[in-house]
Amino acid sequence: MIIFRKAKQLTAYIKKEKKNLKKIGFVPTMGALHSGHLSLLATANSENDLTVCSIFINPTQFNNPDDFKNYPVTIEKDIELLIASHCNILFLPTADEIYPDKYKKKVYDLGKLETLLEGAYRPGHFQGVCQVVDRLLHIVTPHQLYLGQKDYQQCMVLKKLVEQTGLENEVAIKISDTLREADGLALSSRNMRLNEAQRKTAPAIFEALSFIKNKLGQMPLNELKKTAAETLTTKGFEVDYVEIADAKTLDPARDASTKVVALIAAHLGAVRLIDNLILN
Ligand code: AMP
Repeated sequence: MIIFRKAKQLTAYIKKEKKNLKKIGFVPTMGALHSGHLSLLATANSENDLTVCSIFINPTQFNNPDDFKNYPVTIEKDIELLIASHCNILFLPTADEIYPDKYKKKVYDLGKLETLLEGAYRPGHFQGVCQVVDRLLHIVTPHQLYLGQKDYQQCMVLKKLVEQTGLENEVAIKISDTLREADGLALSSRNMRLNEAQRKTAPAIFEALSFIKNKLGQMPLNELKKTAAETLTTKGFEVDYVEIADAKTLDPARDASTKVVALIAAHLGAVRLIDNLILN
């Protein structure tokens, strides 16, 4: 695996490989890698000639400074995992490398996605995500971008970004299923910050999503959401939202006649967890 820290050097290397007709797959991450990340890498490996992974904890997407400060960093272990996963290239930039001045001020039109759900609870978050991914896509210039459904709304935002930046015909977006622990908890770098008791409680989010899925059509949607939220609160979560939304627009669903997705964001102590499940 080659490690690049400088954007220009990586871009030049990829340019050369593309001249050799190499197909480039790209998996952007914030590190603290787990099997969810590695499943994206495995898919990218199987569908491309070269797989690029980036590790960059992007300050502009953290609306909560404590979350940024406490974000887990396990870079040496990450490098071992990437080598074992046959990743070809790791991009490990500094913030200066990602944000030369002109990128700091770019604003993206994300429409309702910016004010719904994660947008409402994490103001500015998706602007930050777009800033970093826009920059990364211009540095890595991949043919295929690999994202996890775990971050459902982020996938929608990044589809919009790719359209808006005119990269629609250059970069194909590939979305992978959410990888879970045996007890249903979605793998997440933030799980490392859960204490033992919280870790035991955390699968309740997936249980709540599964409850909604199982009862769909048997109870009104509002009642499903209310029951799921109350169950989580009883178990010690501070719930940001339990929503059942149209899977294409993320508008709250009135019924389940279209494809719908249940989405939950909830805090256990200082750790904020998100998850989602397609219901039909
Ligand atoms: P992150 O490092 O959290 O920014 O995640 C990097 C990429 O991995 C994103 O596209 C995530 O959606 C994806 N990802 C995170 N957790 C999982 C998971 N449990 N299963 C599959 N993909 C995931």
